[in-house]
Amino acid sequence: MFKRSLGAAGGYALLVHGGAGDAEGARLQGQAAGCARAAGVGKALLEAGASALDAVQAAVEVLEDDPRFNAGTGGALTSEGALELDASIMEGSSLRAGAVCALPPFKHPIAIARAVLADGKHVLYAAQGAARFALQHGFSAVAPETMITDDARQALARALAEELARRSGGTVGAVARDERGGVAAATSTGGMMAKRPGRIGDSPIVGAGSYADDALGAASATGEGEGILRVALCSRVVSQLAGHGPADAALDALRYMEHRVAAIGGLIVVSKDGQLGVARSTKSMSFAGTWRGHDVVAGG
Ligand code: ASP
Repeated sequence: MFKRSLGAAGGYALLVHGGAGDAEGARLQGQAAGCARAAGVGKALLEAGASALDAVQAAVEVLEDDPRFNAGTGGALTSEGALELDASIMEGSSLRAGAVCALPPFKHPIAIARAVLADGKHVLYAAQGAARFALQHGFSAVAPETMITDDARQALARALAEELARRSGGTVGAVARDERGGVAAATSTGGMMAKRPGRIGDSPIVGAGSYADDALGAASATGEGEGILRVALCSRVVSQLAGHGPADAALDALRYMEHRVAAIGGLIVVSKDGQLGVARSTKSMSFAGTWRGHDVVAGG
């Protein structure tokens, strides 16, 4: 178990993660560098007065474009070699949320989730319905080959050889607080490598993979999706912010998940006043944080 507190109460703050897993060495360093880049993009927006919602979306889009992560380009593949992408985004002032799951290849699933939030009629669209929503809202589907990487193909071949659907790490997420005190969370993933077609993890599920409430704070989760779903991990950790700092709340929630459903993972959390917390029960989780008056801090 690992936890770390960052940030300072009062100003804007942003934290991103690049997935709970067992990366080490150059791979982990590369992911931390990718997280730092994404945090820098979010920081520039918050510095200029953007909302937490805009900042988490922009940071996650950077990570979706980075093939080192299991989200957007480079995402994990189903057992049949297809991309089925999951993403969610939530705003803490209105408790509005948007999500897509089992989405066929589109460059930025998180942008489509944001459009779902803005549209407001429903919260979650799946598969062909999600694709149709995206096309109707001006997004373009892309050829699968442009988003499926050789690394992902090789990892799928290894997983199939072992007859094992497995966590591939590299899911991405972001939480932020803006200068006005608004919080938001966003999470995006390809899910589990060699998952069965139609399998949906925690990432697109509000309360499991992402949660945000201005009265308390916001969280994004990564790790064993089936376990995260069963303990509604992000809803749990945000509710704990009433009496605990974000890093302690995150560690407690991960302990609870391990104890109750024997699952491991990681969390990033921002409190309503802008303090940041990272925790993981996996071997690694790349992250990068930044807040008013501070440069980006990255780690794993
Ligand atoms: N939680 C993601 C899922 O189960 C995977 C991950 O975070 O690595 O789809």
